[in-house]
Parts: sequence; C-alpha cells; structure tokens
Amino acid sequence: MMDLKELADIMFPDVVETREELEKKYPERNLPDGAEVTRFAPSPTGFVHMGSLLSAFEDFKAAKDTNGVFYLRIEDTDTERTVENGITGILTDLKTFDIVPDEGMISETEEKGIYGPYIQSKRKNIYHVYAKDLVQKGLAYPCFCTKKELDETREIQELNKERIGYYGSYAKCRCLSCNDAIERIKKGEKYVVRLKSQGNFNNKIVLEDRMRGRIEFPENDMDIVIIKSNDRLPTYHFAHAIDDHLMHTTTVMRGEEWIPSYPIHHELFKVLGFKEPQYAHLGLVLKIDEEGVRRKLSKRKDPEASVSFYHEKGIPPEATKLYLMTIANSNFEEWFLSNPTGKLKDFKMDFEKMSESGSLFDVEKLFNITKNYISRMTADELYDASLPWMKEFDHELYELMTKYPDYTKAIFNIERGGEKPRKDYASFSDIRSGIWYMYDELFKNLNYEYQKITDKEEIKKILNIYFTKYYDISDDKETWFNKVKLMCDELGYASNMKDYKKNPENYKGNVADISTVIRVSITSKSQTPDLYEILKLLGKDRIKKRISLID
Ligand code: GLU
Repeated sequence: MMDLKELADIMFPDVVETREELEKKYPERNLPDGAEVTRFAPSPTGFVHMGSLLSAFEDFKAAKDTNGVFYLRIEDTDTERTVENGITGILTDLKTFDIVPDEGMISETEEKGIYGPYIQSKRKNIYHVYAKDLVQKGLAYPCFCTKKELDETREIQELNKERIGYYGSYAKCRCLSCNDAIERIKKGEKYVVRLKSQGNFNNKIVLEDRMRGRIEFPENDMDIVIIKSNDRLPTYHFAHAIDDHLMHTTTVMRGEEWIPSYPIHHELFKVLGFKEPQYAHLGLVLKIDEEGVRRKLSKRKDPEASVSFYHEKGIPPEATKLYLMTIANSNFEEWFLSNPTGKLKDFKMDFEKMSESGSLFDVEKLFNITKNYISRMTADELYDASLPWMKEFDHELYELMTKYPDYTKAIFNIERGGEKPRKDYASFSDIRSGIWYMYDELFKNLNYEYQKITDKEEIKKILNIYFTKYYDISDDKETWFNKVKLMCDELGYASNMKDYKKNPENYKGNVADISTVIRVSITSKSQTPDLYEILKLLGKDRIKKRISLID
C-alpha cells in the first residue's frame, strides 16, 4: 500500500485535496422530486449542428418539464476541436432557438452556478484528485507503452483475429511493479494513466436506456486511458463520469455513437463509487433526399442543417422549438393538431416516444409549422418579433416599419385573428414580399401582374368608372363587393360566377377579372390579402396617385 501511495504522489504531486474534501463543494441539488438535471456538453467548435441542437433542445425540454436544471458544459479536452470564440458561437446558436441554459458557461470566460468550473480544461485538478485516488487504491496505473508498441499489439491482435485493445495479457504495464513505475517516472518517461479494469468480458451487463430500453453488453475489460500524457487532461470517458457525478446530472442524453462506450462508463462509475445517471442515446437526424433515400442531415448539402439558416431566415424560436418537438416525440404532432394554439410547455416530452432509428427532418413540415405559428401571432406580436430581424437583415423595411408602426401593424392585421388566419409567412424573410407594395416608398420599378384583362384602355376605363362612381371608402365589405358587382353589370362582365360558367360567351369576363384589375393596378400584384382592406388602408389619395401611375 505504501508503494501505491508513493506512486500516486509522484504521479500527482500537485494534488493535495482528498475526494471527500472535493465532494463537499458539490452538494446534492435541492430540487423537487423527479426534477431532471440535464446538460449539453459540446466541444467549443464555434457552432452547433442540427443533431446536437436537437439534443440540446431535448435536454432543455426534459429539465423544463420537471422544474429541473439544464446546464452547458464545455468539453475542451480534445484541444484539436477547440476554436477561438468557440463558446460564444455555441451560445449564439442556442439563443437562436431560445435555448438558454440555467447554469454553466454564459460567455467565453464567464459562468453561472456553483457546480463549476463548467469547462473541462479548468477542472484538471479535479480529475487528478480522482485519478490519484484510483492509483492509490490499485485501480489505475501509469502506462509507458509507446505508439509503436501499441501498434505492434494491434497487429498481433488483428493477425490472431482477437479483440483490439489494451486488456488482459496485452496490458503490459498493468503488471509493472510500483518501484519500476516510480523509477521510470523519475527518469522522465512519458506515460498515460490507465484504468485497471476489474471486468470480465464473459460477464454481461445491462443498460436500461430511457428511449431504447434494455441493451445487453459484455462487461468492460479494457484498461482504457483515463488521463492523457501530454496535457494530462482526462479522456472523455473519465471526465464524463466525474463531471456528471459532481454536477448531479440525472439523465445523460447523447448521440448513439456513445452506446458502445457504455460498458466503460458503467465500470468507471462503479470503481469511482458513483451512482450512475440514466442514459438516453439519441438517434441521428436524417432527411429523405430527392431520390427518396434516408440519409444523415448534412451541413454541406442541406442549408437547414445549420443553425444560421434559422437566424438568417428569421424563424421565430418558439416555432422552431415546436418543430423540434415534432421530430423529437412521435406523438407531439397529434397533440398539436388537437391543440393548435397550445404552448410547448403544456406538452410533456416522453423519452419512450423518441425514435431510435433517427429523427426525420423535413423542411416542408417545418415551414407548415412556422406558417401556422406566425399566422396565430397578433399583429403587435408579429411587429415586435420581426423588427429585430428586419434591423439586421432588411434595413429598408425596418426603417419603414419604425416610421409607420401603426400602419404596419394594420397591414399585418389584414386577415389575421379569425378562425382561419392567412398563412403567408413561414419566416420573417417572407414578410417583405407580402407587404412591400403597401409603402409608397417601395412602390416603384413596378411589374404589373395583369392577368386576363391586359388592354390598357379597358383597364383605365374600369378604374375610372370604379373609383369615380362606385368606390366609397366608408362602405362596409358587403356593400363594397355589391358595388363591384354592379359595375360588372354595367360594363358587361358577369357579376355571378355561376352565370359566367354557364355562358361565358355572353360576357367580356367576370367579377374576378375585374377585381384583379383593381388589385393589380393598386398593388401591382395579382395575389394579395383582402383587397377591401388594402384599399381602406391606402386611402383615397394614395389610390388616386397609384392610378395616375398607369399610363
Ligand atoms: N463532448 C461530447 C460530444 O460532443 C459530449 C457527449 C455527451 O453528451 O456526453 O460528443
């Protein structure tokens, strides 16, 4: 035992704290029963791709559903994946979806919460406390094998068709005496720290995955690296066990690529004496491509795989979250259909309703949801929500919207608020094409989209008669439409579509053709929301001005 203590001291001379002292700094969390503590644990790569974003959303949702805590931990032990300002990029991406961690890193250098540091490179001493403890207990040891030696072992294993790895008789340094190890360390030889696995490959262990159910594995018997040699930082495995223990994570949601590592984690939790968290291993985010083939959503091929897509398009975060919920839980869509005005917080996420085979991403569906969502906002809400986006991406419209706030809200209000609101906008970037013609400042370089009636003289005649004889801004909608019909009768157009369909040859056209002439002359567009409302909002003088533009 004395030897092990000496070995541990020489390996970790800076560690003065004991495990017990350290653990006191990470007390149990004071949370209600059933509260989930979840975390998003990316490398600081500067961006979040859609797969990770979905998992961050699910972490966030699980915590919110249970009055728990969702925190952001930065896993920067793989220094090759670290980029400058990588945390800021991640926070910005999360913010696009309004996923704001309760705890953890809040900027490149600052953090919030008492379970930190929330960035792994600043936790080195913590990992060393546990690694030292394991060495002292004979459950971890220094390994001096060079890359060349490890390659040779691998070749032999391949040749013998054996399992690849550092285990059993292949784990050469496992049997080094403490004295030999101490001597080699004193000589300055480089080493990693390995777990001295207590496992037997012939035993079975079971993972009760929260979404996948029971998965059986052989027990781990690999002496995996827990502390690397150059930077003396931990491997993912070791850091995972220690961090999720100290931070009291209740459920670890992570990509399915980690499933095969579970036996390692199971053993680490056991030898460290920690209670294992629950796990949910999430499927990939997939899409069906043009050929109907399911494939992984690709950042290179699919614009919607980048979080910047949502920001640049101007999709309200709440709408995107509704969409993420539809791909996270197979029963959400049905719930949402029967609760179309329902809020996300009213739906509880269910791990068992997550798809093991992957979540299917479908932009069409996303836009259906966002259209629905935007159509149910009030004009005021839409104005407030879209203004910051305009400021960043459409300054011209931003200035008009701020110059004429009430007028803009009145435009937004056309065909809004009823049982069946118009669904023109899938994102804020669609707004311009829906309303630009309502601003005189933008009403130039026009391309009039006349349809059936194109003859200039006829158009002028219709407009002239309509606006001098029939149009009255104070008419209610019914009177207004009746007058359009009256004019049809006067000019030889069918005011009744049924009559027109029976005998089209008896008419020059029909009431729809006449409405189109008025619509196009005033807006230049053949498709707009309610013409009656548009005319009312523009007012007589501006209508007159617009007519005068038609030569
Ligand atoms: N840093 C790990 C990754 O990016 C996190 C996995 C986990 O959530 O535990 O894959």
